[in-house]
Amino acid sequence: MSVPPRVLVPGVSLAPGREVVLPEEEARHLRVSRVVPGEELVLLDGRGGRASARLAASGRVATVTALLPPRGEPARRVTVLLGVGEPARVEWAVEKGTECGAAAFVLVAASRSQRAHVAAAAARVERLRRIAAEAVKQCDRSVVPAVASPAPLAGLLDGRHGGLLVARPGAAPLTPDRLPAGDLAVAIGPEGGFDETEERLLAAAGAVPVGLGGRILRLETAVVAALVRLVDVPPS
Ligand code: SAM
Repeated sequence: MSVPPRVLVPGVSLAPGREVVLPEEEARHLRVSRVVPGEELVLLDGRGGRASARLAASGRVATVTALLPPRGEPARRVTVLLGVGEPARVEWAVEKGTECGAAAFVLVAASRSQRAHVAAAAARVERLRRIAAEAVKQCDRSVVPAVASPAPLAGLLDGRHGGLLVARPGAAPLTPDRLPAGDLAVAIGPEGGFDETEERLLAAAGAVPVGLGGRILRLETAVVAALVRLVDVPPS
């Protein structure tokens, strides 16, 4: 079954009959992909709203034909607290983590994150948001995960993202009975892992240590391994 092209129109109300002006970049992408007027599209508002629409003759406007149910969103909201590493690894983690259902990414300027990598991540937050948005379209989910600028771990452990987990090599494997109920936040360390002070902060915040198998994973692989284990476990 071929799925119509997905087009992101953030902040637009998707009422049937409405003519939606497509963002220039999205219209250009449709042209390059040889989508022709009259073809069906799926419009996404990035917050869960979806609608089918038809591309108008101008190629810049689409008319909403019907609302569609949300799809592709997992059972749990799982936020990734991601220790900043090399820029390419962070980009990969955001792209693949979005495909695997992450609700949000919060970049952690960890003690062992290199300063140059933290500066690069801070300068590329908009790029990371675009990567998340493209991944949402590609994998046919409905909500674009937020990406927050790098911040020290100490300010991120107040429970606002849900029950806290920390991915730690050698820890017991993840089983549903060890998971807190409701939303989750999983902390993934940078290339050198979290340092002792950060591990103490995580323990004081009640973080449940979780193992992801008997091998040491790169941080971006750990993001994928954690999400595939977590997102579809029912929230309670
Ligand atoms: N030398 C570091 C250590 O031993 O913690 C390795 C860091 S690893 C490259 C980056 C992060 O991925 C780790 O801090 C951890 O959060 C996560 N990770 C990697 N392998 C893991 C595993 N087998 N189980 C749980 N978490 C893992």
